[in-house]
Amino acid sequence: MTPALDLQACLADGWQSTPDMPWRGVIVAALMMVGAWAATRRSFPGQHAFVALALAMLGWISFSALEQAATTAPCKATLALLAWPAILAVPPLWALFLHQYLQGERRVAALAPRVLLALPSLLLIAAALSNGQHGLLYGPDTVLGPPRAGLPRMVWDYGPLFYLAVAVNYAFVMLALALSLRGWRDAGADRRAPWPAFVAMMLVPLAANIAYLGFDLRAWGSDPTSLGFAAAALGFALLIRAERLFDVVPLACTILFNELPDPVLVLDDERRVIDANRAAVQLAGGQVTLGRPLAQWPGGGAALAALLDGAGGERPGELALGGRHWALRLREVGASPRRVGVLLQLQDVTPLRQAHAQVVQRLAARDAELGEAALRQARLREQALSDPLTGLGNRRALQERFAEEAAHAAANGQPLTLVLADLDHFKRINDTHGHAAGDAVLRDVGRLLRQGLRASDAVFRLGGEEFALLLPGADAGQAARRVQAVREALAGAAPARLAHAVTFSAGIAQLTAGGTLEPLMARADRALYEAKAGGRDRSVVAGPDGSDGFGGVSGHGAVD
Ligand code: GH3
Ligand code: MG
Ligand code: MG
Repeated sequence: MTPALDLQACLADGWQSTPDMPWRGVIVAALMMVGAWAATRRSFPGQHAFVALALAMLGWISFSALEQAATTAPCKATLALLAWPAILAVPPLWALFLHQYLQGERRVAALAPRVLLALPSLLLIAAALSNGQHGLLYGPDTVLGPPRAGLPRMVWDYGPLFYLAVAVNYAFVMLALALSLRGWRDAGADRRAPWPAFVAMMLVPLAANIAYLGFDLRAWGSDPTSLGFAAAALGFALLIRAERLFDVVPLACTILFNELPDPVLVLDDERRVIDANRAAVQLAGGQVTLGRPLAQWPGGGAALAALLDGAGGERPGELALGGRHWALRLREVGASPRRVGVLLQLQDVTPLRQAHAQVVQRLAARDAELGEAALRQARLREQALSDPLTGLGNRRALQERFAEEAAHAAANGQPLTLVLADLDHFKRINDTHGHAAGDAVLRDVGRLLRQGLRASDAVFRLGGEEFALLLPGADAGQAARRVQAVREALAGAAPARLAHAVTFSAGIAQLTAGGTLEPLMARADRALYEAKAGGRDRSVVAGPDGSDGFGGVSGHGAVD
């Protein structure tokens, strides 16, 4: 006979009691309790799938038990076919539940991909329920066989869809197994304990099915796969209770924790490392030593501990580890009664530090450049203001210095006097002893002028053998006396290479109130001309501004 849905057959059928009934009853009751327990818990990931899974297993076991209790072939076939929706629902629901549990998914997500994934199972369910029309699941050679242990049993003629259904279910079981293994891998080192048991439970229905299909091993005369699934579900429920799997941090958080690019350590109150994410383990060179003091953590634990001591617990600091710079962030984990400890996060601030170092370097380079430029500038200025032969200031230096001294003199009501001094018959020295000797004489005279005057007096070489002296605080008379002292010093220090002393003529002019350099120079120059005309080797004091007369004459050839 080709098994077909025939509910009438079951209504007419007599029922027999079987020895496994109490056991199946216990399992059905247990599954109902698990389903009710899961349904009434506060929301947990994969809750709907888990409840649906319990219901599907309930259906599978119930129909399987009823099939045992039925006595005629049409009724047995009907119940066996009715079990298929549950049989085909259990493995996909396992996989869905594990997927949602691992993702920490609480809401029902997009329907389309799930329907697509469930489509083979749905089509096979339709095929099972319509087996009477095609006989592709159970073929026409299905018969009621000889009784076993006193109970009649069916000998099924498996059709191609039966094997396809087995294959589809196996694919989902393998998917569920893979998801379990992934959960095992992704669980934190301290939360791995339940996963081996979980994976082992996944293997129970698998083993039961292989035993049934491969070796015709039966439980109370029928396929033990449903019992394997039920055992796994009950075991998982117990595990959930014992390990409080749904109460601990959802696994999605564990995955997130592990995938964080920043190294993160969790410390308990005794500052032991109780958890570390993948980045932290990597920083430690792959060595995991959970439960040990932070100072012994291979990823720079000693430095971290020292930083925590220095930071006083709350202040963030920085440290260099593994060739990178890390900023430390601390966060309390959990509130007082369920306090976990401290979360220690290392933020990679290397790019920031490198940029900072570059800026500092660039600023230092710029500082050095600026310093050099300032130095060059100062040197240029010095060159611009000094006479290279004597090292005295030049005409421009006189102009600058005069401006300062004139302002100072005006502000303090002090006199300021300018002296123009020109060597006498210098051409002859050049002519007689050569230009180099003339240069040497110019240098000597410059030095003697410098030495013979006060520190506050200034000496300049205006060009050729002409010098200018700026005497702050000296009136014309005082200036004439100072010049006279220099003249005498010069007379006593005749350069060795010359047969005679070097003399000079000088024009002395005192600055009048509000006067400027140019008229002052002109007056001194006229006085100098006078001194030359008067016989040289003497000083002539210019009269006040605008007057033609000269204040006086002094010098070797002059009357004091
Ligand atoms: P006077 O008493 O009228 O000033 O006569 P003098 O010969 O000193 O004046 P004059 O202006 O005729 O000659 C100045 C000479 O100074 C001419 C030039 O050869 C010389 N002289 C000018 N500058 C330099 C210099 O840098 N080095 C040397 N060795 N001689 C210079
Ligand atoms: Mg001269
Ligand atoms: Mg001259």
